[in-house]
Amino acid sequence: MHAVGIDIGGTKIAGALVDEAGTIIQELRVPSPISDSGSMVDAIAAVIDQLTAGHQVVGVGVAAAGFISADREIMFHSPNIAAWRNEPLKSRIQEKTSHPVLLENDANAAGWAEFRFGAGRGSNSMIMLTIGTGVGGAVISEGRLLKGGFGIGGELGHIVSIPGGRDCGCGLKGCIETYASGTALLQAARDLAESSDSLGARLRQLNSEHGLLTGEHVFQAVMEDDPGALKLISELGEQLGTAIGSIFVPILDPELVVIGGGVSAVGERLLEPIRTSYSKSMPAKGYRPELKIVKAQFLNQAGLIGAADLARQSFS
Ligand SMILES: [Zn+2]
Repeated sequence: MHAVGIDIGGTKIAGALVDEAGTIIQELRVPSPISDSGSMVDAIAAVIDQLTAGHQVVGVGVAAAGFISADREIMFHSPNIAAWRNEPLKSRIQEKTSHPVLLENDANAAGWAEFRFGAGRGSNSMIMLTIGTGVGGAVISEGRLLKGGFGIGGELGHIVSIPGGRDCGCGLKGCIETYASGTALLQAARDLAESSDSLGARLRQLNSEHGLLTGEHVFQAVMEDDPGALKLISELGEQLGTAIGSIFVPILDPELVVIGGGVSAVGERLLEPIRTSYSKSMPAKGYRPELKIVKAQFLNQAGLIGAADLARQSFS
């Protein structure tokens, strides 16, 4: 039987009907009415209705960015939807549909999809870092998704890498997310373009051609092997690699690190600097097995596939 996965973003709600092998049968995207919680829940219910029409489904998995309670009932804090503060989100959605509903953090759902069907298939312990607007984390330890005591474990992007550093949306300063997200990369590219540094020449050119640099322009410059853009992506990779070697390996000892999210589309140009700095930061180097660092397989469909599979595991 199929399951439904829903992935709620800041600008859109994506939904998919997913089979037992993690294959998407049907997919749907609608704009997110983020202004109030009631309209969001109505829009989510409408997507569920449309996807389940004419199909029997095991259940619905809903993935959203944010801190979710250990019992998966309450959205404590969502970065994208201001109305979701201590929101009983699961029951609000459950009231609008006859199918059982499961709520999960979006990065966790994405990590679960990679573990079950994607780049992490066959591993036992892996972590996933989703490099997009923020830096999402998921930890699968000995075959199980780590949720933690209060449900909010695996928030790897909010480890402070530079004490007293840049302001983070979580209220802290210097979180990895503020240096290694797509948002941070774009800001660094804009700063370089506006400076007089000769390394910024290509970015400056793209900036004047288009008015304002976007993530796509930065992606273009990286893929052209522009030295300025490569330096920025390499600095981003260094932050991640250092965290992997010095924090994630000692605590979690994963066999595999999967790098996903929009920025991972640059592939080896990001993975190589991550591997290099990981290798410099790892304890007992040369005397222990080394993990693999690979690119995610599903990119922006991971949340949908993972949420559907978690619902299947929970309700079948
Ligand atoms: Zn933070």
